[in-house]
Formats: sequence, structure tokens, C-alpha cells
Amino acid sequence: MLKYQKIGIAFVGFSAVLVIFNNSKKYTDHQRDIQGNVPVHFFDDHSDSNHQRFIENSTLKPRPTSIEIESGSTLKTIFKDLNIDEAQALDMTIAFCKVASAKSLKAGQTIEIHYDDQQFVSKMVFHTKSGNHIILEKKGESFIAQRQVVQLQKVLKKFKGSIDSSFYQTAQRLGVPLKIIKESVQILSYSVNFQHGIQYGDHFEIVFDAFENDQGHILKTGDIHYVSLGQHKFYRFNEQYYNGHGESVVRTLLQTPLEASCLKVTSKFSSGRFHPIKKYTRAHKGVDFGARTGTPIKAAGNGIIVKKAYHVGGYGNFIQIKHGSGYQTLYAHMSKFAQNIHVGSKVKQGQLIGYVGSTGLATGPHLHYEVILNNCHVDPQKVKMFPTGHLSGRQKKMFDHHKRRFETL
Ligand SMILES: [Zn+2]
Repeated sequence: MLKYQKIGIAFVGFSAVLVIFNNSKKYTDHQRDIQGNVPVHFFDDHSDSNHQRFIENSTLKPRPTSIEIESGSTLKTIFKDLNIDEAQALDMTIAFCKVASAKSLKAGQTIEIHYDDQQFVSKMVFHTKSGNHIILEKKGESFIAQRQVVQLQKVLKKFKGSIDSSFYQTAQRLGVPLKIIKESVQILSYSVNFQHGIQYGDHFEIVFDAFENDQGHILKTGDIHYVSLGQHKFYRFNEQYYNGHGESVVRTLLQTPLEASCLKVTSKFSSGRFHPIKKYTRAHKGVDFGARTGTPIKAAGNGIIVKKAYHVGGYGNFIQIKHGSGYQTLYAHMSKFAQNIHVGSKVKQGQLIGYVGSTGLATGPHLHYEVILNNCHVDPQKVKMFPTGHLSGRQKKMFDHHKRRFETL
């Protein structure tokens, strides 16, 4: 009895260390299927009657052969969910900690579970994010653990689809890794207006390096080689991105001065819960981007803040930035300004300057965005935005050759 208590205390000590560090609470359909379907195990008492009960149970309830780690899980909760008794769980925890630390367990990782003839857990394989496996296996009466280094295979991965909500949501639904979606948005954001410039059904493709484990799961990503959206096509060459003409993607102003991942395409917004989208007209002087209050607004280009005002007439809270070549941009109806944004502050392209709101004359939250060239308002979508560089001569020839690779993929 005394020994048992000591074991209990030691276990609490271990489990406190093994909290999974991830705030995202994620349930997959697969997980829902297996929840509540765990077998009943009687590790403490191996009497025949209990085995009988267990066998009856196991015929009714399928055992999970793989589970996904939830945020907030510990080895203790994982073992408990599998109905592994405390003494055995402690044995397994001690074995686990000999080869791995708590940091190797993250929400979303999968664990394979194997059972012996008597339906007791005999082996668990933890698939870690780094691609390694931690194998806990029963040898005789106790568990031993070993770390297995899995060779990741570098593959060229291609995803393609058609916009059915936002670029971000569509790509996510297709299983494009988040990092790749964000990088794609960044490459496209100089040329694509993510709200008015794309339509439902627009086609996109992303080709990138992926590192897969033996089960074909992408555990790491590398460079994006090619990304297209609608008629926009961009290629990686000499560690930079160029359009089909060999012009750099980087332009003086962003087409979408907002966190593009939050934007849905125009058509469904016009009658939705957001403010109707106004396109550029002489009277309106700007373009409206419907987005939730609090959506981050970014400086469209490098420049200096020349106006920052609170609650001014129709504009509400607004900021005006002076860029080079006679360009200025204006951002209105903000709910809040970003910190350290004052008249005279230098800002970099893409820098956070404030948040979407509905201050001033706005019927709903949106960003009213103006581009002013030499004191005249111009349609942001029609501004000729010069690339910051383009390829020529031998480089251009090499680029054209390189480009063809993706046309035949
Ligand atoms: Zn407007």
C-alpha cells in the first residue's frame, strides 16, 4: 500500500511535466468516431469473470487503433482514456521519459495503438512532428521505449483547386499546409486583390517542396516553386518570385492592404452581413474591403505617416501614408490604430497600421482604401504598380527554361 502511494506521487510529478503545449483545440471526425469506443480493461484483476466481461465489451466496442493528441492532453490522460491502469501507466511513462521529452508531444500528432490477444495495449507508436517515432512496447511484464528516426522523403507536391469561399479557406480544405498558404498569400498580395480581383471558381495551383514520412504525411515544408491564382502566375527563380514575364512580384503598393486570409470574395458579401462593397467611382474615391472588425490593416507600401485623425466626418479614424513617386494611400473607418503609428512615423510595406472598424459614415465594418497620385484619386486596381526589378539577358533565358518545368507538371 505504501509502495502504491509512492508510485502515485511520482506519477503526478511526471504528468505535470508532460502537458502538451498547444492552445488549439482540435477534434477531427476520425477522433469523434473513436471517442467513447474505448475498450474496458481490467489490469488490476485478471479473474476469469472480468475477462469475460471484457470480451463481451470488446465485441460491442471497437478499439481505437490510432488516436490524435488533443491540446491539454498528458501521457496520463492519454493512458487513462485507453483505460490503462495507473501502475502500468506509470511504467509506460517512466519508459517514455527515458527516450523523449514532453516537448516531443504536440496536439494533432497521432498515436498508433496495438493490442495483444487478450486485448490489452501491447505497443504504442507516437508519431512526433520532427518525423521520429517513439515506440513503447511491452517486453515481458514491463514496457520499454525506443526512439526510431524516420527518414523523411523530399517530394515535389502539387495542390490545385477552385475558389469556393476564400483562397485561404479553399486551400486549407484541400489540405495545403498553413505555412504554404500564408506564403502563397504573401507572394500573390502584390498583384491580387483578394476581395475584388478573384471570383468564385477561379483556379489556383501551388507547387512546393514537402518532406513526407513513410505514411505520406507532410511533416515539413520547403520552398514554394510555383503559385498561380486566376491569370496570375508566379515562379521561384534565384530565391525570388517572378511573374511569367520575368518581372519581380514585389511592387511599390500591395493590392490588398489587409490580412488577406480574412477576406472572402466579393459577390457573396454584397448581400451578406457585411457592408455592401463599393468599387472605385469618382464620387466614392476609393475601394471598400468588407472584413470583420479587428482585421489587421497593413501599409500598402513603404512610406511616412502624413495624417492620423480621430473621428473625422465620413472617414472616422483614418491614416494617410506618403510613398515615393507621388503616391499616397488612405485607410478609413478604422476601429483602432496600431501602436507606434504617429504622424512622421516611417512604415514598411506590410506593417500593421490599424484595425478594420466602422467609425465615421459606415453602415458596417470595412476598410475604405484610397490611392492618391499627385493629388488625384485613382482606382487602386488600375494603378500601374511597377515591379521592383525584372530579369533580362541570360538570366531571362534561364528563367524561361525554368518556367517550362511547371507548365508540364
Ligand atoms: Zn468607401
